[in-house]
Amino acid sequence: MLAAFPALEGEIEADVCVIGGGYTGLSAALHLRKKGYDVVLLEAERVGWGASGRNGGHVGTGQRADQHSIERWVGLEAAKGLWQTGLDAVQKVCDLIHEHQIDCELGSGNLHLAAKPRDVGELQEEIEHLESHYGYQHLAYLSPDAVAERTSAQGFYGAMLDDGCRHLHPLKYALGLARAAAEAGVRIYEGTRGQPAADGRSGEVKTADGCVRARHIVLGCNAYLGNLIPRLAGNIMPINNFVIATEPLPSHLLPRINRDNQSMSDTLFVINYWKLSEDGRLLFGGGENYSSRFPRDIKAFVRPHMLKIYPELEDIEIEYGWGGAVGITLNRMPDFGRIGDCIWYAQGFSGHGVPTATMAGHLLAEAIDGDTTGFDLMASVPTHRFPGGTLLRWPGLVAGMLFYSLRDRLGR
Ligand SMILES: Cc1cc2nc3c(=O)[nH]c(=O)nc-3n(C[C@H](O)[C@H](O)[C@H](O)COP(=O)(O)OP(=O)(O)OC[C@H]3O[C@@H](n4cnc5c(N)ncnc54)[C@H](O)[C@@H]3O)c2cc1C
Repeated sequence: MLAAFPALEGEIEADVCVIGGGYTGLSAALHLRKKGYDVVLLEAERVGWGASGRNGGHVGTGQRADQHSIERWVGLEAAKGLWQTGLDAVQKVCDLIHEHQIDCELGSGNLHLAAKPRDVGELQEEIEHLESHYGYQHLAYLSPDAVAERTSAQGFYGAMLDDGCRHLHPLKYALGLARAAAEAGVRIYEGTRGQPAADGRSGEVKTADGCVRARHIVLGCNAYLGNLIPRLAGNIMPINNFVIATEPLPSHLLPRINRDNQSMSDTLFVINYWKLSEDGRLLFGGGENYSSRFPRDIKAFVRPHMLKIYPELEDIEIEYGWGGAVGITLNRMPDFGRIGDCIWYAQGFSGHGVPTATMAGHLLAEAIDGDTTGFDLMASVPTHRFPGGTLLRWPGLVAGMLFYSLRDRLGR
């Protein structure tokens, strides 16, 4: 565990004020500090309180959007750069874990399971495309029999195995980054909500009991941005997603459920994703809602998704259930940019933020230090505002999401 950091009281100065203590903010703060900057980080709650402490712990390769779409948007050369950035992001997570000796259950491999017959062809085509155009050699197609050797998961037609993926314990990773940042000299304040000027023209960040005066501000608030900077809020949509943890499974079930201790996910639009924890629990993410509230009983909400895939867990108790907000963008690519002279931001990791938000922090630090190459590449992907902006984005999104989740259920 990590002892609480104090709240900010009074006025202080720094080179950079980072707002948000998730992977984006912590990674930015750590990388900036390593470059010699004097850094203050403000977190409204506790570090890791947002999605970074609540996610499924899958560390996927590439970008959240598929490479075919990215090629259409930015051309093959830039798409290759973005693919490589996605691979570097996974490596960055591993490097930080090793360098700072973060004990966070790091494992490897992801099995992406075809939930509909036609998904098999799409997975095979994706493997071929990534091998031939990107030289990526870590993929293999697994037939249903080969899948059955690795997992007793029901209802799948084949799978794509990606050896380049990693998985980890998300909160342990976030707290490890916070410890590393604090040890490097970042001044962290918890329970401290920061309010910058929305036009980014001033480096002053006001808080309830003080203020930070800085040259640069990094915004790492993602789905918890609220209305802090209204013009950014319309670029992302917070969607609630839910995870349950079973009791530790009997030892004979572990190799049946997940022989090689890999992370697993399926091809449904409302994706199911799961992995084992070090103490033998199944951590299963599935189901989302598009309202401002969580379901009253998260365990009961997610359990049917798990039982559909693992009916043999009928008698296994669900001990924990929680939810968090995923910040999605319309094209599922993150939204990088600047406001005025002072504010730098990265948000909208669309469920792929364990590697990408970590990388975003690194790229934000590079950019503030004068090398904007990686930042500009990420920012070159067009960002689209949700129709209706902050006020009216909900009805359209809800209709769209319900349509696709209905297609999941109808098997189309
Ligand atoms: C249930 C769930 C499952 C997921 N599963 C995966 C997965 O398996 N793999 C994957 O790659 N991604 C996954 N994600 C997405 C991933 O967790 C996020 O993309 C990533 O954690 C975003 O990091 P962040 O630092 O940008 O934001 P966050 O971790 O959300 O941090 C933002 C922080 O900003 C703080 N904040 C907000 N406003 C202010 C303010 N004004 N002042 C100070 N602080 C403020 C908040 O309190 C919060 O702590 C999942 C997300 C959820 C919710």
